[in-house]
Amino acid sequence: MQNLLLDIIFPQHCCSICRKPGRFGTKSPWCKQCTEGMQELKQSSPICDKCGKYINGPNSFCADCSSEEPIFHIARAVGPYNDSFRIAIKVLKFLGRRFLSVRMGQMMAETVLAEQRFWPLDLIIPVPASKGHLEQRGFNQTELLANQIAKKIKVKMAADILKRVKETPSQRELSKPEREKNLLCAFEVCDSRRISGKNILLVDDVYTTGSTSKECTRTLLEAGAAKVSVITWATGCGF
Ligand SMILES: [Zn+2]
Ligand SMILES: [Zn+2]
Repeated sequence: MQNLLLDIIFPQHCCSICRKPGRFGTKSPWCKQCTEGMQELKQSSPICDKCGKYINGPNSFCADCSSEEPIFHIARAVGPYNDSFRIAIKVLKFLGRRFLSVRMGQMMAETVLAEQRFWPLDLIIPVPASKGHLEQRGFNQTELLANQIAKKIKVKMAADILKRVKETPSQRELSKPEREKNLLCAFEVCDSRRISGKNILLVDDVYTTGSTSKECTRTLLEAGAAKVSVITWATGCGF
């Protein structure tokens, strides 16, 4: 958390997304135009009723959810994985600008508060980072986001229950079936008593094929969770 403190003490001198000069900080890390751009992007097209992905056309489910309904209750994101939403998560993740997690986590919390189907919730669990990513970056951005969501919605967060037990190669270059196979049994619940009968909010940064969310959900449900819903910062579009 040291970096976060430093960012509060030393305010930012440009917008974290478009780099426009000005006074910015932890509470408002990007400019008015970027904020408005995000609002527009959020409403750019309808979303899948189940997984929250941005879809084209009149269907209420995306192609993926139509062919196989995911086992999580619902998944939602703040916006599509495009433009400002894409830049914001990359700046947090790859440039290590941890202070961004404060505003981003708040926006994720607002999305959860606005969707009644998330409620009631008992526990927040972040998707664990791979060992390689943790060593590389020194932090798990998903845990930072989950921590902020927990503060805002006043639900307990536990980052020590769901563990990654299999180191998987990067998902980025893999096809959907390859991703699913790659992730199979990649997670484990350490203490199933702590999630038994609980309604869980799973937190991840980006929802693309949903493979990670689905595998974490499967692991949590098998360990006795009652229900798992998913919140991410951004989600795929055009499916
Ligand atoms: Zn900007
Ligand atoms: Zn869907």
